[in-house]
Amino acid sequence: MGTLMRAGFPAAWLAECARVVAAERERLTALDAAIGDADHGANLDRGFAEVRRALAAAPEADALVTAGTTLIRKVGGASGPLYGSLLRAMGAALGAQASPAEFAAAFTTGVEAVARLGRSAEGDKTMLDALWPAARALTDATGPQAPSGLPAPPGLSGSLEFPEISRLSAAEVFGRAATAARAGAAATVPMLARKGRASYLGERSVGHEDPGAASSALLVGALETVADEWGGG
Ligand code: ADP
Ligand code: MG
Repeated sequence: MGTLMRAGFPAAWLAECARVVAAERERLTALDAAIGDADHGANLDRGFAEVRRALAAAPEADALVTAGTTLIRKVGGASGPLYGSLLRAMGAALGAQASPAEFAAAFTTGVEAVARLGRSAEGDKTMLDALWPAARALTDATGPQAPSGLPAPPGLSGSLEFPEISRLSAAEVFGRAATAARAGAAATVPMLARKGRASYLGERSVGHEDPGAASSALLVGALETVADEWGGG
């Protein structure tokens, strides 16, 4: 993944997010029916349909910032402002010519914005339980210590610095993030909700996957689906 991001990558990602949210709308709503108010699928589907329209109307604008602003304006539920902040902060942090590591850093900045707005942390049974593992996986896969896939030469310790540029393909990098996000979402099942509507249920929130963590896993999975759009190779 040694190439720079194509300028059209964020818009391609957002289009895939809209597609997959529409396809998974009923599952997200069913998850929210169990521990919330059964609107998460509808909220996000409506929001991303508006994102599609906004991006078509302003193709020259910063896609992530436009999408984030749209979600904040158009989605009534808690997830609108939270995902809106993620995308706006990510867009503000991302240059037009981002390296893989810069993309990971911008994603992390977006996740930090969610945590700040939600006053929530990992383990609260929210979208952050999928987003933080994804941010860490992206950082690990794109950083200077990125695993090269080659064993360290004999005689060299584990402190060997790997080359600056990750040798993983975009599909591998985003695949690791998607796997981490899905595992994070699955790990919310036994958690007790401490934030959002599900927290009103107390112990009864245990035993259900958090809808926002499930949708976050979809959004991160969409990165893997559009990995071919990343850049030149
Ligand atoms: P609402 O709860 O207003 O109906 P949604 O159903 O669209 O909104 O979204 C619910 C999801 O939002 C939850 O599953 C959870 O992942 C996320 N969420 C709610 N509150 C917070 C918070 N304070 N911090 C992080 N995520 C939150
Ligand atoms: Mg809801």
